[in-house]
Amino acid sequence: MREKKIRVLVTGAGGFIGHHLVTYLKQKGYWVRGVDLKYPDYSEVDADEFELLDLRRWDSALQATRGIDHVYALAADMGGMGYISAHHAQILHNNALINFHTMEAARLNGATHYLYTSSACVYPEYLQTDAQVTPLKEEDVLPAQPQDAYGWEKLITEILAGYYQQDYGMETRIVRFHNIFGEFGTWDGGREKAPAAMCRKVAIAKLNGNPIVEVWGDGEQTRSFCHINDCVEGIYKLMQSDYRKPLNLGQDRMVTINELVDLVAKAAGISVEKKHVDGPQGVRGRNSDNTRLREVLDWEPQISLEEGLKRTYDWIEEQVRQRLEEEVANIE
Ligand code: NAD
Repeated sequence: MREKKIRVLVTGAGGFIGHHLVTYLKQKGYWVRGVDLKYPDYSEVDADEFELLDLRRWDSALQATRGIDHVYALAADMGGMGYISAHHAQILHNNALINFHTMEAARLNGATHYLYTSSACVYPEYLQTDAQVTPLKEEDVLPAQPQDAYGWEKLITEILAGYYQQDYGMETRIVRFHNIFGEFGTWDGGREKAPAAMCRKVAIAKLNGNPIVEVWGDGEQTRSFCHINDCVEGIYKLMQSDYRKPLNLGQDRMVTINELVDLVAKAAGISVEKKHVDGPQGVRGRNSDNTRLREVLDWEPQISLEEGLKRTYDWIEEQVRQRLEEEVANIE
């Protein structure tokens, strides 16, 4: 007898990671419903069903999770440092409603598996004051001092997911992303993250022939960056595993933002001049300790930063080129 096809819900399926995850799960043969406030910005929907729903609403959460076996919960009000450091109340309010409603609705509708997408922003700020930071292990999260309202909400929903496992037997998985980047991600408008913002700035510098690129702060703050294709593979592997505690998912190669700019410029084939300006920088240093990731999944991200940036830069340069052409056409 043929096994029943697993029905999957991806929330935030109109967003960057959610959209890539839908494509990946379709290729794996799942029946997929995508839910979001909006359709994907840069490509077609490839989910079996796509519903525009506001998951802050209880009735929408019930509708989204009906008939679903596995939930990948990615919906969030989020953005890069510029965004999350300026909208604390809104982010905490919106994301708490989205996550509390979606998890409870999934339980009531009989979902067996629930993967929650958390963030490295749950790690205490007091461990990230130095650019040469010690990589963060999963257990470093306590005593808690997460970054911004965004990080506090992520931490409390992680704890909620743990209790849904303990009290209701729902198979919860918790992944802590460390700076995911790649093609089809937000690259302008205020919610973009550092790699996309740098690709846009370098592309504008290249296409306009003006080599000056603005960098927030002194650019010596450090991060690690993981390409989207590794991210969706890691998410999927975690869902298949029986690991129920939070798990880092990111690269463990740390670079400064200045180095990131140089790598993007190299991908663009130009050299740039950095102009350091005031701007939100987040913690001084952050890196992922991938010891547990390797142990649990017997795998780690494979795509080098150079390769990932090249793919991302090429896509963003094309977006910028089209935008500039449209602006010229509108003037003419
Ligand atoms: P994204 O902003 O591209 O996608 C999130 C999606 O959620 C958006 O399309 C948005 O419209 C949708 N959404 C927001 N409010 C909603 C609502 N009320 N109802 C329904 N949908 C709603 O972000 P992303 O980069 O794809 O991130 C996906 C998840 O991963 C998020 O939970 C985010 O916090 C987490 N995360 C991402 C990163 C990263 O580097 N991209 C790092 C850490 C954690």
